[in-house]
Amino acid sequence: MNSKPKTKNSKLVAALLDWFAANARDLPWRRTRDPYAIWVSEIMLQQTQVKTVIPFWNRWLRELPTIEAAAKAPSEKIHKLWEGLGYYTRVRNLQKAAQVVVEKHDGKFPEKYDEVLALPGIGRYTAGAICSIAFNQPTPILDGNVIRVLTRIFGIAENPKDKQANAQLWQLAEVLVQGSNGNCSHLNQSLMELGALVCAPRNPQCLLCPVKKLCVAFAENRTEELPNLGKRDAATTRNFFAFLLEHNGKFLVRQRPAGVVNAHLWEFPNAEVGGNQTEAAAVFQTEFGLAPEKISLLVTVKHSITRYRITLSAFAISVPTLPKKVVGVWKSPTQLQLLAFSSAHKKLASAAAKSILSGR
Ligand code: SF4
Repeated sequence: MNSKPKTKNSKLVAALLDWFAANARDLPWRRTRDPYAIWVSEIMLQQTQVKTVIPFWNRWLRELPTIEAAAKAPSEKIHKLWEGLGYYTRVRNLQKAAQVVVEKHDGKFPEKYDEVLALPGIGRYTAGAICSIAFNQPTPILDGNVIRVLTRIFGIAENPKDKQANAQLWQLAEVLVQGSNGNCSHLNQSLMELGALVCAPRNPQCLLCPVKKLCVAFAENRTEELPNLGKRDAATTRNFFAFLLEHNGKFLVRQRPAGVVNAHLWEFPNAEVGGNQTEAAAVFQTEFGLAPEKISLLVTVKHSITRYRITLSAFAISVPTLPKKVVGVWKSPTQLQLLAFSSAHKKLASAAAKSILSGR
């Protein structure tokens, strides 16, 4: 009996599924089909590496094991559980979505793709990931990893952000998951996994790749040029001064307002300064309306957010009298540990605690 010749797509699906069965990493969220647990992992994994996410995911599920618990948790708690993961809009949307699931779906995570997509913070990729991984539905996914894998395998030279190329990639992702013979969850995860482990942005491991015989980029030696992401925005340097103002063993901190970057997180008073503004004492005086008695550089933290390369210089400050108008609250080093800070300001909180211990 003659069987139909295999198409490129069916060979691709078979090779990906075989490879995934033998090589998938044992990740904690892969041991469950609970859509809530999978959803939390997908949100945490946006912009964040797997090894960073694992302890955060374990702690979140331990502290907030159900959708109801996530819906009801105090804002301070969810921010503290997310502290260090960054992009905090994610956690606020996660809680809003949990509240919608409780109110509209009796606390049961919806299975219909459109209902999942309608939840706050869930876009096309995340809805596709949850529906395929938790419910084994043939819903496509397209994130950075999958874009890289597909543009290389199919030799797509256009920028994947361009409308037409993007639509073509979604279409390919859909065709593949629909052709997976009911292995939707594994097929989608195999694309992500191949992008994470083998088809890396730089120096992809083509010789070890299960789909090298089907890959246009490998055959044509174009792995370096694909995907064609266009020109990146140039990095921008920004400088901030932060002030660790201490009074009776407590430090002044304040909470960032809603609607700004790192909203609701805590921070030490700080100000952005121009490149040639080097007088921290003068900046402090402008902010607080009095001159410091003593000022010394305690720690410098460098970090990046999107295209910004940020240098945060933190100064220990003594003042003859307290400033008249201070915005914020005074907290001891022990109390600071209970607050959710951005990663950079968390380092300042540790420096503040050490400075008290050393009597600086
Ligand atoms: S052969 Fe190389 S470029 Fe092609 S999918 Fe595999 S790792 Fe990526």
